[in-house]
Amino acid sequence: MPAIVQINDKPPATPAAHRPHHERRRRIHLFFFLVFCALPFFNLMRFDIPKQRFYFAGVELWINEFAIIFFSLMFTMFFIVALSMFYGRVYCSYACPQMIFSETALAVEDRLRRWVTKNFISWPVERRQLLHRVLTYGVIGAASVFLAFIFISYFVEPRDLLTRLLHFDVITAGGIAGAVTTLITFLDFAFVRQKFCTTLCPYGYLQGMLSDKNTLLVQYKDPNHLCIQCKKCVRICHMGIDIRDSPFQIECIHCGECIDACEEIMTRVNRPPVVEYAWGQDGAKLASDTDKPWWYRLGIRDAKRKIVLVVMLCYASALGTALSMRNPVMVRVNPVRTMKLYTTNAEGEIENHFRVLISNRSSKSEFVVVSIDGLAGARLDLAQQPIAVQPGETTEREFAVAVPQGSALPLVSHFRVMTETQPDARRQAIDMTFLMPAKKETP
Ligand code: SF4
Ligand code: SF4
Repeated sequence: MPAIVQINDKPPATPAAHRPHHERRRRIHLFFFLVFCALPFFNLMRFDIPKQRFYFAGVELWINEFAIIFFSLMFTMFFIVALSMFYGRVYCSYACPQMIFSETALAVEDRLRRWVTKNFISWPVERRQLLHRVLTYGVIGAASVFLAFIFISYFVEPRDLLTRLLHFDVITAGGIAGAVTTLITFLDFAFVRQKFCTTLCPYGYLQGMLSDKNTLLVQYKDPNHLCIQCKKCVRICHMGIDIRDSPFQIECIHCGECIDACEEIMTRVNRPPVVEYAWGQDGAKLASDTDKPWWYRLGIRDAKRKIVLVVMLCYASALGTALSMRNPVMVRVNPVRTMKLYTTNAEGEIENHFRVLISNRSSKSEFVVVSIDGLAGARLDLAQQPIAVQPGETTEREFAVAVPQGSALPLVSHFRVMTETQPDARRQAIDMTFLMPAKKETP
């Protein structure tokens, strides 16, 4: 079990003067933190449980559009898996909210320890530790409320959630879910932190299967025995491992912090660092291959990766096309034949009855005009056209198709129900059948 730094442990190693990987990670963490907050607010990715809607790339998908939802989620998963194959645990290291907040919690704890030590140096150690504990848990507690709010926004409309939060709602299901999530978030970032990555998260276990000889890894390469055994790379590692043991340790997230540590120490003794990013266990360093084309240096180093990239592009194009071609107004027509196949009205016309169901999946009001095509002499009996449907609303209307008495139509005729939205003029044709009474045989 790796030794995770806890609240009572000694502080981590003094930060290096220049830590390029660390600094880059901090900037990218900030970027992904903003992405994490923005996704539900701009409906870029959100699953609204009360409304049973899935939002992807700003498009509102209804739960009955399961195919698109499924393929959107599969694409996201496929993208992360492909990323792991190319660049190792880049998602864990740079984009995973669990890692971002765990490291932030550690940094906050460390800063508060220094602040307490500096400003309350005359206090006994126990009192200083108590103050440090209270401050750390206080900050993590406040942050947990915010993080839980963002997290639940992925499942509940953010404005609705804010209203519940401002009214301290812990009675309704939403309020209870918020309180429980806040508590779990607090326990996670106060106590569990990176232990979650090495014990519960299944993604770490997948890495072994996804990486190969061309995957970008952090590894220890010391053929000339230059390592001075300072162990700074071990002390800096938040995952509590020694990179010198193997680049394939399940705890290693390929963050590069140990590269910074080794580089700093080895610069002082005028030696090259022995921990570095490299393509695969025996591959070239990240910074080498300068004579190779740009795509090769980007990691597209073999046929397998080219195929994965092509599949990704095809997948993304197909998904983009499906989303752009999606009709925001869903129309369904069904015949009503539970009691009778046809009826005869007061004028003696033969009628077939149908039911039209219209769902407005867009964010604006829509109007739908229904007509029929391909049935000679028939008329449509549907009052109050066009049919108005408000955003998110589903409306149902019944209508009849009538043909004059004595019509020469066969027993079963095929025709189409046409629908057209206004003002977008999106047309849809739905195949239907019209049934006539069976003609009596003349003796
Ligand atoms: S061994 Fe190095 S790259 Fe791996 S998690 Fe630790 S610091 Fe990061
Ligand atoms: S930081 Fe570099 S030199 Fe120091 S123990 Fe680690 S690998 Fe060896």
